[in-house]
Amino acid sequence: MAEIGAEIGTKARGSVSIENLGKVYGAVEKAGVVALDHCSLAIAPNEFIALVGPSGCGKSTLANILAGFDQPNTGSVSLDGQIIASPSVLAKPGPDRVMVFQHGALFPWMTILDNVLYGATRSAAPHSDDLRASALDLLRRSGGLNRVAARFPGQVSSGMQRRIEIVRALMTDPAILILDEPFRAMDSIAKSRMHNHVLALHESVPKTTVFITHDLQEALLLADRVVVMTTRPGRIKQIVEVDLPRPRTTEVLASEKFLALKAATHQAVHDEALKAFEAGEKERA
Ligand code: ADP
Ligand code: MG
Repeated sequence: MAEIGAEIGTKARGSVSIENLGKVYGAVEKAGVVALDHCSLAIAPNEFIALVGPSGCGKSTLANILAGFDQPNTGSVSLDGQIIASPSVLAKPGPDRVMVFQHGALFPWMTILDNVLYGATRSAAPHSDDLRASALDLLRRSGGLNRVAARFPGQVSSGMQRRIEIVRALMTDPAILILDEPFRAMDSIAKSRMHNHVLALHESVPKTTVFITHDLQEALLLADRVVVMTTRPGRIKQIVEVDLPRPRTTEVLASEKFLALKAATHQAVHDEALKAFEAGEKERA
């Protein structure tokens, strides 16, 4: 059977360099909304980055530029040495950069296995035995989802749907996986289970990952480094190295080291959230 994990993620690719990235919505000369300003960050292959910041600070803007859905006004993004985003490079999504959103995007009329295969082939045509074996293997690694492969998305929980989407994204063997607040709408127990699945999957299929959230605990639990953004215009305020050992599970949440990390970072995130809240109040007043 084809072991997709043996190939996916083991190549040293997925190195990202974000340099001086800026994005203004609307006409610059008419004082448009500055969503990103002088954003710079280097991400190593297979590194798990969590991007945290208050609502409206520019997280999705950055994700959209990384994924090729939107174009920056200044600066650039390089992926493995190649410029993939800049004012002069036409924004274009590709299978090397895959995004998973908060709201699911599975095809309800296809079985789970066909949904996952669609990611790899971009077609609903019959698939090779190898590809099917790879898909089933990845589903199995994502908490035994191979057992529900023949069902339709509507027949499984929303947590399973989100995991299936992550598996579908991994099937294209992207250089970078972008997750924009994928668990935002979940209750804490469902979220906690998702965290363990994501941690295990990243262990088994390492991948350069940009995980966007406004939940600091989630960020510290999952990431190698947490990037704290400022209130709009989004800049990088602080980068926190999360030196908690892997493999990790949610059990680490109770450790002294985790609590110390959280205490040390809480203020930066809280201050920005407060600024965003006050700016919102002012706009409404
Ligand atoms: P976040 O994901 O951190 O909540 P976004 O990146 O979605 O923030 O938005 C950053 C800022 O840019 C917000 O003020 C938002 O209203 C604005 N914005 C986002 N998308 C657009 C758009 N297409 N047109 C105009 N303004 C936008
Ligand atoms: Mg957003």
